[in-house]
Amino acid sequence: MSPYDAILNDLQTLGEMPLRRWRERFPGFRPLGFMNAYLPEELFHAAGFTPVLLLHRREDRGQAKAHLPGFTCWVARSALDQALAGELEGLAGVAFAQSCDAVQALADLWPRAVPQLPAFYVAMPHHLAAPAARSYLLAELQRLRWRLEEMTGQAIGDEALQASIALYNRTRALLGRLHELADRLPPPALHAARQAAFLMPKELYYPLLAQLLEQLPPSGTGSPRLVVVGSELADPSLYQVIAEAGGRVVGDLLDLGQRHFALPVDETGDPLQALADHALALLPTPTKYHPQRRRDAHLLETVRTRQADGVIFARQKFCEPHGFDYVMLKAALDRAGVPHLLIELEQTPHVGQMRTRIEAFLEMIGA
Ligand code: SF4
Repeated sequence: MSPYDAILNDLQTLGEMPLRRWRERFPGFRPLGFMNAYLPEELFHAAGFTPVLLLHRREDRGQAKAHLPGFTCWVARSALDQALAGELEGLAGVAFAQSCDAVQALADLWPRAVPQLPAFYVAMPHHLAAPAARSYLLAELQRLRWRLEEMTGQAIGDEALQASIALYNRTRALLGRLHELADRLPPPALHAARQAAFLMPKELYYPLLAQLLEQLPPSGTGSPRLVVVGSELADPSLYQVIAEAGGRVVGDLLDLGQRHFALPVDETGDPLQALADHALALLPTPTKYHPQRRRDAHLLETVRTRQADGVIFARQKFCEPHGFDYVMLKAALDRAGVPHLLIELEQTPHVGQMRTRIEAFLEMIGA
């Protein structure tokens, strides 16, 4: 097996690994689960934890039914189902940042439903350019810092936080490069390489990704070039189907995708302020608003710069934020004459149906 294949193989197995086996795989690190794009991962890292994304799984043990209504997205229900079934044992806690009603509901009920796993919460402003947004978020981060210090019995010094920021920035820079070179990887490999950033310690991920980038094959030519839009895609089925249909994913507008790694955190000055400024400076996810940073303009720009032939919306069933977002983005794509396709994702993906629709879409765009 070539070093390139060996690294990819390693990264691909992470998405399938149950979290209860995480500590065995990464001894010496302390995992803490998290749910979404606004979590200040560096603060948890500086407190001695490794933030690990809670991926939704296909299995349903029926544990979440008594706590969340059936019209809650599977991303939120699966996290609770795994916790109640003991699949998250070994985590030091779980952290939520306010991103949508489903995550808010989960954060509210977690302390009663899963008291053995401490929950952390960051309230994120909605209007990212509001006059009070920065001071509000800074106060939230300070509150979180105190809570972590109380839990660990250790102060989180500015130097430790700056070191964590520097490590995460190095990873961001490499992930930016990965996204620039996305058309050189088959879609499932791109999916695995990006997702692994949230599943393993950055100290170990960073050198692996650097090696992978050095060994990428040349760009695939002649394949239809696609941009994928959605929340987080734990399941690789969509990327596998795109690959089988002959397409390439050359860009994305995923909550934890390109937008998430687009900017570094300032490494000079007060590190907590830098984290707050960074969260406010990124392109908003669908439940947030910034008058100058519009998602429709950003998507059109991504299509243009990545020379994409079409856009695939991958929306989780019952996800209202991305449902409303779709209406606005679809209108912008229609005005610009960019072809697009909406795929609805469920707990278990309907791969056959997905394949038929994607093959027809690629044939229609005729790239
Ligand atoms: S899929 Fe949508 S509703 Fe569910 S957690 Fe993500 S953003 Fe919220």
